[in-house]
Amino acid sequence: MDRKQFIRSLGLLSLTGATMKLNSLNEIINKGENTETMPLLFVGHGNPMNAIEDNSFSREMKAVGKKLPKPKAILMVSAHWETKGTFVTAQELPPTIHDFGGFPKELFAVEYPAPGSKWLDEETKKAVTKTEVGFDTTWGFDHGCWSVTKNMFPNADVPIIQLSLDYTKDAQYHYDLAKQLAALRKKGVMVIGSGNMVHNFGYVKVNGNDFNAPYGHDWAIEANEKFKKYISEDNHSPLIDYKNQGKSINLAVPTPEHYLPLLYTLALKEKNETVSFFNDAPVAGSFSMTSVLIQ
Ligand code: ZN
Repeated sequence: MDRKQFIRSLGLLSLTGATMKLNSLNEIINKGENTETMPLLFVGHGNPMNAIEDNSFSREMKAVGKKLPKPKAILMVSAHWETKGTFVTAQELPPTIHDFGGFPKELFAVEYPAPGSKWLDEETKKAVTKTEVGFDTTWGFDHGCWSVTKNMFPNADVPIIQLSLDYTKDAQYHYDLAKQLAALRKKGVMVIGSGNMVHNFGYVKVNGNDFNAPYGHDWAIEANEKFKKYISEDNHSPLIDYKNQGKSINLAVPTPEHYLPLLYTLALKEKNETVSFFNDAPVAGSFSMTSVLIQ
């Protein structure tokens, strides 16, 4: 082979490489188009240690995760990202944020290297007309996101964006905004809310040394049962009007951020879909890990 031939074949080779790359890119882009409607999840994340601890909650998250179809991308609504206005994370490789204190070194060492998704950023911006969706490059994956995805999608091979919670808005606003994300589900996007239905740091009571040992105050158990009843019956009005549902729910939701992600999940439920619960347990007196799968 002379030099000219050699250069020509190199050109061909790189062209073949580029075509192959383009083909696999198209495959990735097309994967998820006209696909089945993706399931919906609300996951109680609880103690950040669930990300690295082998306990009944993390095992159940892993078990449910294994049965899920692989989405094209995930839109995560985490309790731990509150903003004025609505934003999505817009980074190619969002950093893993360790947004807590007082935990062991191993937890600070956790990295969840899933990529972001420019495609989903754009799709979300298009889908939401209720407000302007801003592209944010300062946030990444907070522990509300990665303590869940590390268990449910351990390979970190599904692109993820987070959608922030606008702290200036009420529950009805969030529920209505969430409804606008419906079309994304049919494009291979899995919407996951991550919070805790019962979440009150003012009444923590640990049974023995184990933070995760199932234990709940009477009001926490009552609120958990009420929430499940309304969710099972598709009765979303009292869930949106949660501030007027009596003492147990007022104690369960002293601040809205861990509760609102549930409304994002419920708002997207279609009539023919069924609800199931997992990790249905109170912990540390004033929290619940109760999680919802809708499919
Ligand atoms: Zn939390």
